[in-house]
Formats: sequence, structure tokens, C-alpha cells
Amino acid sequence: MYLKSLELQGFKSFPDKITLTFDEGLTAVVGPNGSGKSNIGDAVRWVLGEQSTKELRGKSMEDVIFSGTKTRKQMGFAAVTLTIDNSDRRLSEPEDEVAVTRKLYRSGDSEYLINGRNVRLKDVNELFMDTGLGRDGYAIIGQGRIAEIVGAKSNERRDIFEEAAGALGKLSQAHCRI
Ligand code: ATP
Repeated sequence: MYLKSLELQGFKSFPDKITLTFDEGLTAVVGPNGSGKSNIGDAVRWVLGEQSTKELRGKSMEDVIFSGTKTRKQMGFAAVTLTIDNSDRRLSEPEDEVAVTRKLYRSGDSEYLINGRNVRLKDVNELFMDTGLGRDGYAIIGQGRIAEIVGAKSNERRDIFEEAAGALGKLSQAHCRI
């Protein structure tokens, strides 16, 4: 299971549809300050069902929709699709590729899709449960989180490690079941 591609349209600083493709292994995103590197991480978090506007670095959920510039008017919706290689069937879907889409309109209407099927947020959460990849897993470490861990008091750090150990325990159980 690995992240194959991420498609964004109207999401934060990306008005046009763009597709980022990833290989197995390490990918680094480089660019000047404010060019949208963190917005890519936010897009991954968002499509996995993030509900916290704080985690998404905004005040309201509408802030994820491209808000326009001097030369370009705002968009009416944001859409992100994350495609995962599932040839090892780590996700309980019968296909070799699993595409998860989240779309939000300025009206507040939103939709989630798994391989083109309309689903509920609960289904997206269940798809990634016990894989370590969901929005609450440790696959996504936000900016400042490392500093928070390093700067934490020893008892707070212990809580963080215990939580991570629990998540890893669940992951290894999932491996055993496979
Ligand atoms: P740094 O290296 O400083 O951390 P970065 O490359 O990670 O920067 P981001 O934080 O991803 O940059 O992007 C910030 C930019 O995204 C800002 O210019 C901001 O105006 C723009 N942006 C964020 N939300 C929206 C939105 N809804 N519509 C348009 N632009 C947006």
C-alpha cells in the first residue's frame, strides 16, 4: 500500500486541477516560502476526513476553497482525490487502486467518494481504520508537531509515546490478520 497520486482542484492555493504522482520511497516537496508545500499536506489530511479547521490552518472549513487573487476569482468548490496502490489488499476494497475523493462547495454541501461511489465520512474512516493512515494516525505529522514532542514535559511525552505505541499495536494486529 502506498500513495500513488494526489489530485487537487480549487483547494487552497491550487485553483487549477493538478495531479501529483508519487513513487514508492521518499518524496520531498521543495519550493519558496508560501508557495503551497504545506497546503499539499493539508490536502492529504483533508481528503482523509479531517474535521478540525485548526489542523487545516484555517478559521472555517470554507477556507480550504481557493479564495481568489487580484487576477483570478474565487472558486465555488474544492476537490481532492487521493489514490492508493492497494495491490497488497491492505485496504479492504477489491480493487488494485483505491481512490478517495472529498468535495466541498461554498454552499456547505460536501461529498465523499470511494472509487467513484458516494459514501459517508464514516466509510472513509472505516476504510483506513487499523492501517495507521487515517487522519488520526501517525502517518501525517504536521508542522510544529516535532517541536511539540521535543519540547514536551516528560509525562506529556510519555502520553504521546503511549498513544503511538497503541496505534502501532493496532497496526501489527492488522498485519497478523492479513
Ligand atoms: P512555508 O515554506 O513558509 O511553510 P509553504 O510553501 O508551506 O510555506 P503554504 O502554507 O502551503 O506555503 O501556502 C501558503 C499560501 O497559500 C499563502 O500564500 C496563502 O495565501 C495561500 N492560501 C491558503 N489558503 C488559500 C485559499 N483558500 N485560497 C487562496 N490561497 C490560499
